[in-house]
Amino acid sequence: MSAFPVVDYYEVEGLLSEEERMTRDVARVFTDEQILPVITQHFREGSFPRGLIRKMGELGFLGANLQGYGCAGINNVAYGLIMQELERGDSGVRSFASVQGSLVMYPIHAFGSEAQNERWLPRLAAGEAIGCFGLTEPDFGSDPGGMATKAVRKGAEFVLNGTKLWITNGSIADIAVVWAKLDGVVRGFLVERGAAGFSARDIHGKHSMRASVTSELSFQDCRIPADNLLPKTDGLRSPLSCLNQARYGIAWGAVGAAMACYQAALDYSRQRVQFGKPIASFQLVQQKLVHMLTEITKAQLLCLQLGRLKDAGRLRHTHVSLAKRNNVAAALEIARLARDIHGANGIVDEYPVIRHMLNLESVFTYEGTHDVHTLILGRDITGISALE
Ligand SMILES: Cc1cc2nc3c(=O)[nH]c(=O)nc-3n(C[C@H](O)[C@H](O)[C@H](O)COP(=O)(O)OP(=O)(O)OC[C@H]3O[C@@H](n4cnc5c(N)ncnc54)[C@H](O)[C@@H]3O)c2cc1C
Repeated sequence: MSAFPVVDYYEVEGLLSEEERMTRDVARVFTDEQILPVITQHFREGSFPRGLIRKMGELGFLGANLQGYGCAGINNVAYGLIMQELERGDSGVRSFASVQGSLVMYPIHAFGSEAQNERWLPRLAAGEAIGCFGLTEPDFGSDPGGMATKAVRKGAEFVLNGTKLWITNGSIADIAVVWAKLDGVVRGFLVERGAAGFSARDIHGKHSMRASVTSELSFQDCRIPADNLLPKTDGLRSPLSCLNQARYGIAWGAVGAAMACYQAALDYSRQRVQFGKPIASFQLVQQKLVHMLTEITKAQLLCLQLGRLKDAGRLRHTHVSLAKRNNVAAALEIARLARDIHGANGIVDEYPVIRHMLNLESVFTYEGTHDVHTLILGRDITGISALE
């Protein structure tokens, strides 16, 4: 049993199947027992809790919604609930799982050869191998189609040249899914650790996602076997389809961070006394708590229907944009309100809120910024693009 009180005002739990609830409970206990005891120290030190990787693999959390090759093959709602619980621990741990499952295992599963699937997926699912996803470049963030990284075929090899920036898991990855233009078309390539001409260095000085590795990848005449092309990749829509998978998990994950902040603020407001009363007795504090719970409840319902649509095969990428945009913005606002309710204590890491708040600033920006998703939705409903 988890010690975390259930934040479920609308009995959303009653809409889950037994299997979905059980999966959520396993992830909930994992977060309580494995993430929360170590995360503050890792955030302080700026290190990723690598000891968690194998454990997540053993529990089937990595690539959990994929079928075959050692993956758990659970439905998308159960997968979302795992992401929710991991991010209740820390956005960095959820980011690791999102990158590994949605941005590395998914493209190998969707676009890879049988040999690539067999070679990589069982090890990635078990947490025996680590992956990263290189799309963003120094000069191309929201506009990845402009990427400068190029691949050229030379005999039995491809030669890659370019730089990728802000890559989660970059320096600890055994395998990088790298997006580069081959004859002007965006294609995916598997670059293994130690490939000639490939190097990774970590980005330091981060105030957000400190318990996550973020790196720059450099390819200088990097030679990889021709077999390392993901054969079914075909243009920018291939990496964008991976991002859609990851954003789906982020929409759920943001709810977890918001729940952690809300619960911390509620607990704190009940025991912090000012003017002779708990601060929870003041109307303005209650208004903040009510707003937080309302936004969490809306986000929970949004996620559940998002997951049901995905499981029914009716999910559109714009559905995911709406959920990512709404839930991350709501979680960030909730984290800031929770920080406020904690007063000065809200800025120290004895309480989880400042860590979540700082992490969520990254989540607001990555996987399509908040405003980019606004424009994706605006284009969908008006038929007019304001993005380009
Ligand atoms: C912690 C972290 C981890 C990450 N991990 C990965 C990873 O594993 N792999 C990877 O490939 N990338 C990763 N990223 C990169 C991330 O995807 C990019 O930061 C994101 O796509 C935004 O790009 P940018 O930072 O270059 O911002 P920019 O694209 O330069 O945007 C800056 C601002 O301009 C706005 N803007 C841009 N274009 C428009 C427009 N058309 N209309 C209106 N406003 C616009 C944006 O909304 C934003 O407010 C990560 C980033 C972070 C912070």
